[in-house]
Amino acid sequence: MVDHGPRTGAKVALTFDADMTDGMLASLRAGRVKSYANLRILDLLEREQVPATFFLTGKWVQRYPDVTRRIAGNPRFELANHTYGHAAFTADCYDLPRLPVDELAGDVAKTFEVIAPYGGRQTRYFRFPGLCHDAAALDALAPLGVTVVDGDVVSGDPFATAWKPLVRAVLDHVRPGSVVIMHVTEANAAMTDEALPHILAGLRERGLVPAPLSEVLTT
Ligand SMILES: [Zn+2]
Repeated sequence: MVDHGPRTGAKVALTFDADMTDGMLASLRAGRVKSYANLRILDLLEREQVPATFFLTGKWVQRYPDVTRRIAGNPRFELANHTYGHAAFTADCYDLPRLPVDELAGDVAKTFEVIAPYGGRQTRYFRFPGLCHDAAALDALAPLGVTVVDGDVVSGDPFATAWKPLVRAVLDHVRPGSVVIMHVTEANAAMTDEALPHILAGLRERGLVPAPLSEVLTT
């Protein structure tokens, strides 16, 4: 389990979670929500040639195969696992419905199977929904050989209504080796693309360089 990489050097990891639940799928189908895929984030990262790591849920991948293909096709982007349907892996994890302990490993394995065919820079990194985990959840995943990645810089972008607090939350806490947690879910994280250019500029000012998670954790 890791929160961040070595505090030497200049590399930091920008990570984007792609949550998707049955409730979110229902909102899309009913037209209450336009999109849970923030393409402006991808546009910016691609244009500025910024490396990033995407923690994908299986249901998000199945809803957005073209966007997943776009992520997998970028040699600067890594793909990681954020469960199949963003259910809780412990009790009392926000308001997320909970998966039984004996279904946890299967859920994560199924998600790897959904992501794997897209190729690109596949990893064995895994992030728990809501970062909620306990000993039983970690034991359940041990056979899968995943590295559990939380993060040491929480942007607070879910349901944000202004971009400046996100920029401040990231730039006040980011250090060499940091793993920054953001979301690529548009309707549920509507300010992230507005905050991102300011975050990138602030990292440059601090001499910090975004890198794929695998490089941040190992160097
Ligand atoms: Zn999540």
